[in-house]
Order: sequence, then C-alpha cells, then structure tokens
Amino acid sequence: MATDFNPILATLHRMHRQFADLMEQVNGGLRRIRGMEARIEELKGIHETAVRTVLDFRISLDQKQAQLEANEASIIKRKKQLDEAKNEREFKGIKEQIAAAEAANAVLSDEILEGLDYLDTLKQNAELAKRNLESTETLLNEIREKTQETREWAEAEIRRIKGDFRKKEAELDGEHRMLYEKLFKIKKFDSLTSVENKCCSGCHTILPLDVIASIISCQKAVSCPMCSRLLYVKEGHHVKD
Ligand SMILES: [Zn+2]
Repeated sequence: MATDFNPILATLHRMHRQFADLMEQVNGGLRRIRGMEARIEELKGIHETAVRTVLDFRISLDQKQAQLEANEASIIKRKKQLDEAKNEREFKGIKEQIAAAEAANAVLSDEILEGLDYLDTLKQNAELAKRNLESTETLLNEIREKTQETREWAEAEIRRIKGDFRKKEAELDGEHRMLYEKLFKIKKFDSLTSVENKCCSGCHTILPLDVIASIISCQKAVSCPMCSRLLYVKEGHHVKD
C-alpha cells in the first residue's frame, strides 16, 4: 500500500504557517520602523521650518525696533532744532516732521508689541514641534529594541523547528516530493492547502470528486488548477455527495 502523504502534508502546512507567522512578526516590526523613520523625517522638516520662522520673525521685529529708535533719535534732534528755527514757517515745518515721526512710532510700537505676542506663539509652535520629534524618536528607539528582541526570539524558534521540518519534508517521496519541492521554490510558505467541502481552501475553487479521491488515495500529487497550491485532505475529512 502506498504511503499516505496527507498527514505529512498537513503537518508541513502547519509548520509553514508557523514559519510564516514568525517571519511576519519580524517583518511587521521592520515595517513599523520604516514607517516611523519616514514620520521622523517629516517631523524634522516641520521643526526646522518652525525654528526658521521664529528666526525670520525675530529679525523683522529687530528691524522695527531699530527703526523706532532711529525715529526717536530724530525726534529729539528736531525738538532741539525748534529752538533754533529762524522763522514761523521753519518752526511749523519742523513741528510737522516731529508729528509725522511720532505718528509713525506709535504705529511701530503697536506692531512691535503685537509682534512680541506673535513671537511667543511661534516659539511655542517650535517647542511643540521639537517635543513631537523627540517623543517620536524615543518611541522609535523602543520599537527598535522590541523588534530586535522579537527577531532574536523568532530566529531561535525558526532554528528550533527547522530540524523537525526537514525531517518531515524527507518523509515525502516520488511525485509528491517533486511537486512539493517545485512549488516550495516558487510559493515558499504558501505552497500547501487543504481540501475543504470539496473546494480548495486556498482559493475556493470547486474540485471534482475523482480528483479529491486521488488526493485521498495518494495515487498522484495534485495541485489546485486555479492557485496551484499542493492539495491534501485532512484526517477525518469526509467527502459527501
Ligand atoms: Zn486553489
């Protein structure tokens, strides 16, 4: 009587899922790290822009402050000139210049006061951007450590299962072994699937009864006509008409 490859394929399928799960745990961590690295680049850009905005605004405020001081100096100078005015017309002219400079300074000092408030807001924005960046960097470091731990654990698990896995693979022979090896090269841990309710459980294609019968009897190795996974029938599986 020919060897029943179905339980062997079922065990291999379970092991494939174990390997795939372990790899997914590692890859999931790596994907999360890559996502956070991209986010950190974004946050760095936001922080740099916020800092530059503070700097540019402070320069514009300093310029206004310098203008205010220059105006004040010229007001003092003109006030002295008032005493030296040669006539009424010159006196009036200087008075008008003083009034214009004082009006300009009133506007400037309002702008400077408002600007100082706004500068505070800009500084708070920059501080917030910095804190966001720092907390995301801290989180990334934690995830890196955790992923490293997961990776070491998963690699140890893979090494642990691998011996049994190779032994189980060696139990296949003939056509089943050839087809298994061929499919495994291409589909890796997605190369096996069971028959459930007369269907391929991998892609739900309905399988003819005679095909299912030959899977059960192991007369030949059968891969799904649709998804090409190697098919097996689980123990205790009944095919009803
Ligand atoms: Zn299929």
